[in-house]
Amino acid sequence: KEAKEAQAAVKGASEMGISIRKDVDFAGWYQQVLTKSEMLEYYDVSGCYILRPYSYNVWKEIQNFFDAKITEMGVEDTYFPMFVSNKVLEKEKDHIEGFSPEVAWVTRAGSSDLEEPVAIRPTSETVMYPYFAKWIRSYRDLPFKVNQWNSVVRWEFKHPQPFLRTREFLWQEGHTAHLTKEEADTEVREILSLYAQVYSDLLAVPMIQGVKSDKEKFAGGLYTTTVEGYIPTTGRAIQAGTSHCLGQNFSKMFNIVVEDPDTTGKADGEAAKKLLVWQNSWGLSTRTIGVMVMVHGDDKGLVMPPRVASIQVVIVPCGLTVKTSQEDRRKVEDEVVRIEKALKKAGVKTKADLRDNYSPGFKFAHWELRGIPLRIEVGPKDLQKEQVVVVRRDNGEKSSIPTKDLENDIKNLLDTVQNDMYARAKKVRDDAIVRVDKWEDFVPTLNNKCLCLIPWCDRTECEDDIKEKSARRDQQDEPEDERAPSMGAKSLCMPFDQPTENPIVLGETKCVACGENAKHFMLFGRSY
Ligand code: AMP
Repeated sequence: KEAKEAQAAVKGASEMGISIRKDVDFAGWYQQVLTKSEMLEYYDVSGCYILRPYSYNVWKEIQNFFDAKITEMGVEDTYFPMFVSNKVLEKEKDHIEGFSPEVAWVTRAGSSDLEEPVAIRPTSETVMYPYFAKWIRSYRDLPFKVNQWNSVVRWEFKHPQPFLRTREFLWQEGHTAHLTKEEADTEVREILSLYAQVYSDLLAVPMIQGVKSDKEKFAGGLYTTTVEGYIPTTGRAIQAGTSHCLGQNFSKMFNIVVEDPDTTGKADGEAAKKLLVWQNSWGLSTRTIGVMVMVHGDDKGLVMPPRVASIQVVIVPCGLTVKTSQEDRRKVEDEVVRIEKALKKAGVKTKADLRDNYSPGFKFAHWELRGIPLRIEVGPKDLQKEQVVVVRRDNGEKSSIPTKDLENDIKNLLDTVQNDMYARAKKVRDDAIVRVDKWEDFVPTLNNKCLCLIPWCDRTECEDDIKEKSARRDQQDEPEDERAPSMGAKSLCMPFDQPTENPIVLGETKCVACGENAKHFMLFGRSY
């Protein structure tokens, strides 16, 4: 009977587990990991997905961290409607040009057509700024800083991917107004560095911070800064969060002006000079979660960084057989419960798995699939030795830890796991950034799943050319496919950290792609 049960458990575990290898079919693997770990469910509207509690919890951790930081910076919460009229949406020409292909419209209510269709916000610049104009009257009202946690809709036609590219997604959008460009510039960088921290400190994923090219910047903005991530399995980069300086483009269109403090209150009766405010907007979306899964997950399923794991430690009673006495069984279970309580009290998110209808092996697979950072095994022999066995999810390492100071040891080990996960991801990412000094090496480097850092001329025509020239067409008439590795390379960013070794000499160093004078190093790559 026991053998039968064991076999059923193994079969159950393998059906429950991941059957697709990450390096063989990445898209299939990603889908299996997300659904089987109960992070996500597919939905019957294409491009939309259900975030189940297991993934929403990660979002909540990100919210808690980021919200506390921006509150410190003086940003306040707000909420604006999701609908926007055509008249307002069209106000900033470049902005609407960039977004219009993806805007979803409500044209009918019940059985009657709306007289004026309304759009669903793809982002809220045009929703908010008419009211900024009303509320911001004096330079004393500046800086003005609000943020909302909401969802936006972009009816993307590119291949949808859970978390990475969805038609409705959750994000925060911060919108601020400043008296000077310097102040706006400073905030853009502060926010970008918080985005990088969300990835590095919470999700254990390294980011490259930099500025987007003119072609890739936010529609209607002055310049866009970005954090760029890297997905090793596909060798593709991903825009992981963006902080934009909008300059005065929107304040001009929406007439957001204040009196110049230098001319206000002058006695000579002249009207005070009007100044257009400087604006920023910045957004981070649930794409974060997809990046985390793609970077850390393995053939057994998710690998959760401890900082965002809703369960950090699972405790499984082990070594109990039919020969174990009732008393010994009870002692082990009591110890499991005792440890659970002690760890919870110490602030460690812990779960004791005392289900008596599953074997330890089944439970191991169950929690490995969900990526729980640490597993504690407690058996009769461990009780005698006053120790437990601890197994790390990230590298499979097993160790015995005395129960005496278990809380501290577990907390330290969680920190070690978090740091090791980051260090490993960073090493892989660093190795994949390749300095390329001649064009012949560019496409082979991409094909080698790397990103190319090149001296670049900073011209849009050259950028278009690079995309065209780097599309891999093994078969002459193969159409360019967004999903395939054949896509051309895009510019990712001009990293703030420019190489210091063999740097660019203005007027001497040439652009690797076109031979014109290079202005700075630019990172290029195939990207999501
Ligand atoms: P944007 O307002 O276009 O700068 O978007 C802000 C951030 O949201 C981007 O940097 C992306 O990381 C993320 N994002 C953009 N489009 C999507 C999408 N369709 N699904 C999920 N995240 C997105």
